[in-house]
Amino acid sequence: MSSFDFDLFVIGGGSGGVRAARMAAGRGARVAMAETLGTEGLGGTCVNVGCIPKKLYSYAAHYADAFEESHGFGWEGEKPVLNWSTLKTNRAKEISRLNGVYANLLRGSGVTVINGFARIDGPHAVTVATLNADGSPGHQSFTAAHILIATGGTPFVPHFTGREHVITSNEVFDLEPFPQRLLVVGGGYIACEFASIFNGLGSKVTQLYRGEQVLRGFDDEIRHFVAGEMQKSGVDLRLNAGVVDIRKTTEGLRAELEDGNTVMADAVLYATGRKPNVQGLGLEAVGVAQGAQGEVIVDAHYRTNVPSIRAVGDVTNRVQLTPVALGEAMVVVDQLFGPAPGKPPRSMGYEFIPTAVFTHPNIGTVGYSEAQAREQFGAITVFRSEFKALRHTLSGSSERTLMKLIVDTASDRVVGLHMVGAEAGEIVQGFAVAMKAGATKTVFDSTIGIHPTAAEEFVTMREPVNR
Ligand code: FAD
Ligand code: NDP
Repeated sequence: MSSFDFDLFVIGGGSGGVRAARMAAGRGARVAMAETLGTEGLGGTCVNVGCIPKKLYSYAAHYADAFEESHGFGWEGEKPVLNWSTLKTNRAKEISRLNGVYANLLRGSGVTVINGFARIDGPHAVTVATLNADGSPGHQSFTAAHILIATGGTPFVPHFTGREHVITSNEVFDLEPFPQRLLVVGGGYIACEFASIFNGLGSKVTQLYRGEQVLRGFDDEIRHFVAGEMQKSGVDLRLNAGVVDIRKTTEGLRAELEDGNTVMADAVLYATGRKPNVQGLGLEAVGVAQGAQGEVIVDAHYRTNVPSIRAVGDVTNRVQLTPVALGEAMVVVDQLFGPAPGKPPRSMGYEFIPTAVFTHPNIGTVGYSEAQAREQFGAITVFRSEFKALRHTLSGSSERTLMKLIVDTASDRVVGLHMVGAEAGEIVQGFAVAMKAGATKTVFDSTIGIHPTAAEEFVTMREPVNR
């Protein structure tokens, strides 16, 4: 037994931290985990103010379309109205339930959970700001053989006049009252998802993006297509646009734009990226190297330059997705405490990470965009299909679906698969397995479709696009 209090001290009870703590304890390690928000913060960003509440609100927003579209299928009656308080209350209840599930799982695995903000005091030392029995501020100090930083990230809002009037994704779930007019600034995942969600829930949404097209980094055709679908569904998307200042008036928030126009809104959501949560963590004192945004710099094994300190997830500012933080955490546990019995040590591959943007309609994507593939592989063959989904032949909706396959011509391997359409996230997950396994276009062609589905289109595209 080592002379340290713990074998592993995990800082942060989010996606990466909880997974690392549970798995390490399961391997017999003595593990502590500090979470600054206490039990209510367990699960981190994803559970409390990210993936889960966002997806619940996305489901809520989809009902508006479903009621509207049901008329074409013979359903009659008035369109129901949204009770925003009911949605917020039910979401909060579900999130509390999940916090409890996480607390039980950690307790059941034997992890010591400490409520409070943790600071690293040395290569093997952590101090947690806690409360004394009488409620006064106190602290507890611990030693550990290994420290894992899994403190995630926090929204970034640029400086401008009126910044104090805006909200971020942390506050958007509990807005009161419901924003009849919402201004969204940004063109990434969060901005596009919330523009779609609040548009569906009934807000008049204006979205401003500073560049030529939203969702930089995604396949260009997919970006244009989803932007068009969002505009068709009612989002007032303005490109090459930005805010000069925001003022509070008796009629609401008044945003003056760079082009001289103004937008009136009940709430302004800034979704302009996230920065790593490193403030007060003690990294400078202990000498942990950081990048320009404050991110913890790690090597291929998630080790910082201080050998006993590792980091995973959003705090490393690489791929900010929950399954990536989970994957990284499991690799670290295998490295420190050995793999699960009978299993090889896990590794993480950053190529072919599937992802979805829960816009309405969704984007689902895995692998290279057309432009990236052209750069990486040279000769590529592109297959494309655009159509109206069967459901919309009766629904009255003009929504269209786009699917694309990018094939490396030399090897015939499918290196990019992209979709805008209903349930794109659900559909692309399965195809991601085939692509990880190196499936060729010939394999796709020999796969029998499931009829009638939209997904079958991915195995029936025969004619390449003539670029
Ligand atoms: P986090 O989950 O952020 O956890 C970090 C934890 O550390 C927090 O609980 C924090 O309170 C705690 N902490 C910080 N500092 C300290 C300290 N000094 N001491 C103690 N505790 C500390 N990803 C997806 O894959 N799919 C999605 O649909 C998706 N939707 C999202 C929607 C939104 C609105 C947002 C903001 C993010 C979304 N993400 C999504 C991204 C996903 O939430 C993150 O990638 C993921 O949560 C990162 O996990 P993590 O463990 O690195 O950090
Ligand atoms: P993103 O990095 O995706 O997007 C940030 C957006 O803000 C970009 O459009 C960027 O423009 C713009 N921006 C940045 N700085 C400024 C500025 N100073 N003024 C105006 N616009 C600015 O960040 P998000 O906050 O949307 O999300 C963070 C991460 O969380 C995502 O990258 C993703 O990894 C994860 N996430 C995943 C989801 C999912 O899996 N479905 C959902 C939500 C979040 P530009 O492109 O020009 O730089």
